[in-house]
Amino acid sequence: MYLTQLYPTPKTFAEREGEPFRFGAVCGVVLPKNTSPEMAENVGKLWRRFTFTASELKITESGSGFYAIFHTSGESGALPNAIQPGSYYRIRVDQRGAVVGAVSEKALSDGISMLMQLIVPLDLSEGREAFIIPASELSGEPSLAVRMLHLCVFPESRLETLEKAIAFAGFLGFTHIVLEFWGMLKYDANPALSWDRAFTKRQIKPLIYLARGYGMEVIPMLNHLGHATQSRATMGRHTVLNQNSRLQMLFEPDGWTWCVTNPETKKLLRELRGELIELCGDGGYFHLGCDEAYSFATCRECSKHSAPELLAEYLNEISAELEKTGRRAIIWHDQLLKRSDCDPDFKDPIVVCNSLGVPAGDTTPAVDLLDRRIIIADWQYDYKTSENPSTPFFIKKGFDVLCCPWDDSRNVRGLCESARTNGAMGVMLTTWHHLPNYIHELPKMANFVWQSGNYKSAPYTEVAALLRKLGDFNSYETAGWSDREVDG
Ligand SMILES: [Zn+2]
Repeated sequence: MYLTQLYPTPKTFAEREGEPFRFGAVCGVVLPKNTSPEMAENVGKLWRRFTFTASELKITESGSGFYAIFHTSGESGALPNAIQPGSYYRIRVDQRGAVVGAVSEKALSDGISMLMQLIVPLDLSEGREAFIIPASELSGEPSLAVRMLHLCVFPESRLETLEKAIAFAGFLGFTHIVLEFWGMLKYDANPALSWDRAFTKRQIKPLIYLARGYGMEVIPMLNHLGHATQSRATMGRHTVLNQNSRLQMLFEPDGWTWCVTNPETKKLLRELRGELIELCGDGGYFHLGCDEAYSFATCRECSKHSAPELLAEYLNEISAELEKTGRRAIIWHDQLLKRSDCDPDFKDPIVVCNSLGVPAGDTTPAVDLLDRRIIIADWQYDYKTSENPSTPFFIKKGFDVLCCPWDDSRNVRGLCESARTNGAMGVMLTTWHHLPNYIHELPKMANFVWQSGNYKSAPYTEVAALLRKLGDFNSYETAGWSDREVDG
């Protein structure tokens, strides 16, 4: 077979007898009526790049159902029947053309991404452009419906790096991008919330548009408890208080955690949620953070309250507010779990749990008081198997759970398996400050997300070849995934 590896690995793939689909400098495609403009534009761009800029796609829209029909004859009417529905996406290619059928616009986008990988160039010289797609049948079926990728925007983050990650995630069949700004978005509410070098909303919008072009939803994230500094604890910065110390009362005394009994804090966070929702567009979720809230309830007012009751009250109020906008809150899990030598499930030091790290007292009892519409994002980076006890713990408590690994591929594989075996709603892969090097791991990670299996690393050369087709990364600084060739 002359095709390279396909990502993410399709469920079925068979080359068929017969002639391939042949096309040249122009090819037609019929997309469903009412295809989003973002997606139509993205399909056109992908086609151009996967044909090494030597073929243009003429897009028309017609018909119902989620079909994409690639043809050269202009007579493609007979083709849709070649595909029987029933899979997430199916692809059939013969000499008449290529048809992708799918269950949704997102599934159609994923099927088209797979079809692009089948294009084989025969001649790229001007005036003689020629390509084939081998006669074949494929299908794809993700075993987890919710497949999220969490991305951080740090002061050192390049927009191009985020663009690569978003394009790769969309291409590889992720369904959601979670976007967290570390002092790096200029809010309207207050200039002290962002550094001078922060991106404007106008600069971020093309990333949202790109994600939507792949049928993904962008989930806004804003830390509503710990990490209120919007800066890493180990580096000592506070985005807000370093710039305006008069805003101290919004925070607990050490500045790390928001002061949740201060009505001004709630008002500000409500405004920021509104700004982020407007920026990220339609969607069903909002990520509230809430991990590592070490100084929760330590100020004069907050410390008068029962810590678990204050936590639950605060989160339930926000959950109810989000519900009015059709969104569900997502929170990190660790304030709801405690290590216990008496509990065989939670005595192992690898389990992430922080409820006992709060001077105000154990916050664990909040778990029984929380609105069950809140989704628990169970971040566990040291589990290397699917035996993590925290996911079934929260599912038994009645929550929907997202399993959230980081960048160790055994951890990603283990937690994806855990999500499947325990019936979690899905996974959220986290990248934190390792994003540039995470990018070349994404094809392998996507395989773990899509289905069970022991996948080898995708070769650097294949990943680079794919990445070149996902954007115009043409300069030294933006090509590849690292900003340098050697360490100097
Ligand atoms: Zn307080």
